[in-house]
Amino acid sequence: MMYKCLRAKHILQCLLAAAVILWLCPAIKNCLASDSGTLVPLPVIMYHSVCNKQPTDYIVTPRQLDNDLAWLKSRGFVSVSAEQLIRYTKGSGELPQKPVLITFDDGFYNNLSAALPLLEKYDMRAVISIVGRYTDDYAPADPHSESYSYLTWEDISELAASGRIEIGSHTYDMHSRSGGRQGCAKLPDESDEEYAFTFGSDIGLLRTELHQNCGIIPAVFAFPFGALCKESLPVLRDSGILMTLTCREGMNFITRGPDCLYGIFRYNRSGLLSTDEYMERITKNLPESP
Ligand SMILES: [Zn+2]
Repeated sequence: MMYKCLRAKHILQCLLAAAVILWLCPAIKNCLASDSGTLVPLPVIMYHSVCNKQPTDYIVTPRQLDNDLAWLKSRGFVSVSAEQLIRYTKGSGELPQKPVLITFDDGFYNNLSAALPLLEKYDMRAVISIVGRYTDDYAPADPHSESYSYLTWEDISELAASGRIEIGSHTYDMHSRSGGRQGCAKLPDESDEEYAFTFGSDIGLLRTELHQNCGIIPAVFAFPFGALCKESLPVLRDSGILMTLTCREGMNFITRGPDCLYGIFRYNRSGLLSTDEYMERITKNLPESP
């Protein structure tokens, strides 16, 4: 009798547990789905120089940048930081409804003199990816020309201190097409080990210099000319890089998985386009038109 009673109690407990699990299951499933399955569209803008020269594919005027930021603001876009994106992919925090990531490549001094005041005006932020050698050699030789100088280490510290700018790596000295190599891509006759050593040494040098001169450890890497190869990823990961920026055009979809930040698509902001033309291009694949 006692045995029967215990068995009945046990069966009842099992049934109850099963019912609770069944009841919870859809909730758990939905929760998991919304975490890993939600895709947040993220357009990414790539600027270079911002100055009052004739606009080109790689030069916009301060007025064009002002118009761009006004356009984004008026349509409800919120500029997000790389750090915010990284945290989100690791499961922390939320993203705004209409995020946009603003990036500048090559490390021009005018990113400090012309772009930062405009980012402040519209309460926006950006990632500036610098080339170590330009800062070491070219910047001090001819500093602070708005039209062509590169950022000095002091300028970079000032940008970082603004709280609006994150500094990314654009290689120490692989921003070239010399010796048959396209940027930091692997050479056809190079072994994986040789490549890992060459590329790892280059980005390691910029990482060390950024840390020594500015106290910064970069988490973002921009591929020079968008030239990439699969062998670069383990080297970048080893160096602490958590986000890579390409020059391939397209919409990004951010998830709660950190790997979605490797190989971010970007639209080059050519100064030959009007704000409307460019913004139309980068937002055309958004699920809901702005
Ligand atoms: Zn570049």
